[in-house]
Amino acid sequence: MQELELYGPTNTRKVFAEIIIPLALPINYTWLVPEHMLSDIKVGCRVEVNLGKNKRYAGVVKQLHHEAPEFFEAKEVLNILDVQPVVYPQQLQLWEWMSSYYMCTQGEVMAAALPAHFKLSSESVLVFNEEAGEDFRELDNEEYLVAEALLIRKELKLPEVQQILELSHARLSSGQVYPVINRLIQKRICYVWEALKETYIPKKEDYILLSPEYSSEAALELLLNEDKRLQRAEKQMELLLAYLHFQKTEGEITKAALLKKSGASDAQLKGLIEKGILIAERRVVDRIKRGAKNIDINFELSEAQNTAFEKIRVSLTEKPICLLHGVTSSGKTEIYIRLIEDYIRSGKQVLYMLPEIALTSQTIRRLQKHFGGHIGVYHSKFSQNERIEIWNKVKEGELKIVLGARSALFLPFENLGFIICDEEHDTSYKQMEPAPRYHARDAAIYMSSLYDDCKVLLGSATPSLESYYNASKEKYGLVKLMQRYGDVAMPVLEMIDTRRLKSKDPNAAILSQPLCNAIQTSLDAARQVILFQNRRGYTPYQRCNVCGWIPQCKHCDVSLTFHKFYNKLVCHYCGTSYAPMQTCAACGSHDFVQKQFGTERIEEVLQEIFPLAKTARMDMDSVRGKNAHDQLIQNFEQLNIDILVGTQMVVKGLDFENVDLVGILDADGILSFADFRVNERAYQLMEQVSGRAGRKHGKGKVLVQTSQPAHPVLMQVQQHDYDALYNDEIAKREQFFYPPFSRIIKLTFKNKIREVVQDAAQIFANALSNRYKDHITGPAEPVINRLRNQYLMELLLKLPRNAKVLEQCKKDINYQIAVLHQEPRYKSVVIIPDVDGI
Ligand code: ADP
Ligand code: ZN
Ligand code: ZN
Repeated sequence: MQELELYGPTNTRKVFAEIIIPLALPINYTWLVPEHMLSDIKVGCRVEVNLGKNKRYAGVVKQLHHEAPEFFEAKEVLNILDVQPVVYPQQLQLWEWMSSYYMCTQGEVMAAALPAHFKLSSESVLVFNEEAGEDFRELDNEEYLVAEALLIRKELKLPEVQQILELSHARLSSGQVYPVINRLIQKRICYVWEALKETYIPKKEDYILLSPEYSSEAALELLLNEDKRLQRAEKQMELLLAYLHFQKTEGEITKAALLKKSGASDAQLKGLIEKGILIAERRVVDRIKRGAKNIDINFELSEAQNTAFEKIRVSLTEKPICLLHGVTSSGKTEIYIRLIEDYIRSGKQVLYMLPEIALTSQTIRRLQKHFGGHIGVYHSKFSQNERIEIWNKVKEGELKIVLGARSALFLPFENLGFIICDEEHDTSYKQMEPAPRYHARDAAIYMSSLYDDCKVLLGSATPSLESYYNASKEKYGLVKLMQRYGDVAMPVLEMIDTRRLKSKDPNAAILSQPLCNAIQTSLDAARQVILFQNRRGYTPYQRCNVCGWIPQCKHCDVSLTFHKFYNKLVCHYCGTSYAPMQTCAACGSHDFVQKQFGTERIEEVLQEIFPLAKTARMDMDSVRGKNAHDQLIQNFEQLNIDILVGTQMVVKGLDFENVDLVGILDADGILSFADFRVNERAYQLMEQVSGRAGRKHGKGKVLVQTSQPAHPVLMQVQQHDYDALYNDEIAKREQFFYPPFSRIIKLTFKNKIREVVQDAAQIFANALSNRYKDHITGPAEPVINRLRNQYLMELLLKLPRNAKVLEQCKKDINYQIAVLHQEPRYKSVVIIPDVDGI
């Protein structure tokens, strides 16, 4: 960003600010910076501006310049909200890149990037913070007026705040509203409503403080020796003395601890509070207690780990990005910890990214053990206050390590030196909804280029094809760690051929006899069991009951989905439909089936067969909110659960010592999913879930129920042979021109009326087909063709990996969107581009 001489005797030219507003505006607009603000306005600061007639927003200054807008008179910036910028130029660059790469607006990126408390608009609702209490003595007049109104009404819209201030202060310029609100938020008198939408319920505790009145030695002396109110209340005096003692020896004390330690009663404490001597303050306490800032690395790397560690270090001096391919339980985390240590000792900041679900207290504890208070956790389930705290500490460079999910990428790192993207293959790194639909791994790689000498380590037991391809083309470094820590054996996979099971018992279709026997053996040995059932197992598909063959689309190499309603097999890539199969193309049989079952059903069956075992279920329905998930994991860790049934959630990076059996209940469902990445995903899922078995003691066993025991992917998982999977898949990707050989842009069309959305998608496809004839697939209806009363259509563009072509195509898409929206019939069709979708 260019330096601009903004003021001074020589400069009489007007200064304009390009400002990002947290809305889906096609471009950033420009405002005029009034002269008296010139010395304070900075790039990256938030400012208050008017947009339209009477809408107000807090926007972020992207650029300051002298170019007056051509077609309209720029309005003035109303206020500057920050003394120091909330973001560095790197964040603004990241926003810009994201918006252009992922086809959204910078405002949408900004809205995703900033914590709710930084975002203000006329639509914002302020909510009174009940924990703030009613002590408004520290507030100035304007703050006080608003706080009092909030105390009574609990909620205020921003225009109401404005009214309050205008009514009581005739002289107050209307521009002063946002700064007042901003101060109130900083003083934690109120929240922006968005913050309360979360399910996170902060833990609150009462702290006992000495009233500031007695903070001086002299005042305290007087209180203790002369105060008549205390001389008559012996017990209260005792409690006060006890309080003062604890405060001196232990620092701040909670009400509960004080009462317990002093043996005093609630009434005695109340007496002191009523006299105004002590104060009770409700505070949100960090669930994760922040420890001291020390580094404590108390383990040695094994020889294999150490070799990998050294190779990574060498690799990162040669190339900025390195992929660590380390089998499950090889001790990747310990290697990360040693690398993190190196980087923070050299004064750099480190971002450690994990998929949201893997960000459990298990992982957090593991890292905190070594880095204590150097670590901050940034997570969508944490409170906005905590997020702001971390935001500021990262910006000041005070916090050295951030452990976070994909949104941690937006933090304003001052001096970022190292990014770890753990479980880099994980699909939850891609944000699906809403915009920006970014891939956090790829965005992290871009972001690293914005910092001086910043390195990236991707880690996985089952790398994405994209990353492995990049490593094989020597774009990334590649380090392999092919043995488990402690030389523990890799788990052994055995196939249970469901075609041979002749039992009439319907439960046996869910839990076969061999699997039940194995479960019993584990239970008898006081070991634990994980049973895995994929969510995706719900998509209906047709399968030959004799040989396990699943019908595929001729053009797309993906499994066909069965539509009961239309009685058709449909390809969700190109829209081709086929009559239901009568004859198996592989074995000639006429016996086709459809089988599906969910985790709930499995739990029922388990309880029938193993009435004495303690079972639990882990899926999106059973664990709402972060704490339920953590709780379940802890229960399992502490051996309070014998059998855990779960979806993908049980797969993510968990480390349980006592599990010796993993059951994969419906491998067919995993292998039939209608997606060109099906084999890659199936391998990843099964290898990862297998990796939960026998981590400490070895002898981990994995039983796979399948009707295709010879399926190549199952063979590859059985051999733990990632290279074989990679070689097979990469050849197919090349043949069908899928990533990493092409880039995919998926367009989703949405409308209430089915014909409208179908026509719109068709018109769109026709318009693009001149230029992209060979690259368009569809339009077709997706698997779920109606969501929230909107009908959906999809169009897929498979483009060559060429930056120019890609850029041109995005331009063409945006242009066609505008053209289509000019037609009254299609005005209401929503079109959503998704780049590199998964
Ligand atoms: P991965 O992430 O590769 O699946 P983990 O990092 O979870 O593997 O390591 C597996 C187990 O081995 C963990 O319980 C971990 O604490 C232990 N472990 C790994 N390396 C070491 C080491 N150098 N010293 C002690 N324990 C280790
Ligand atoms: Zn067959
Ligand atoms: Zn097809």
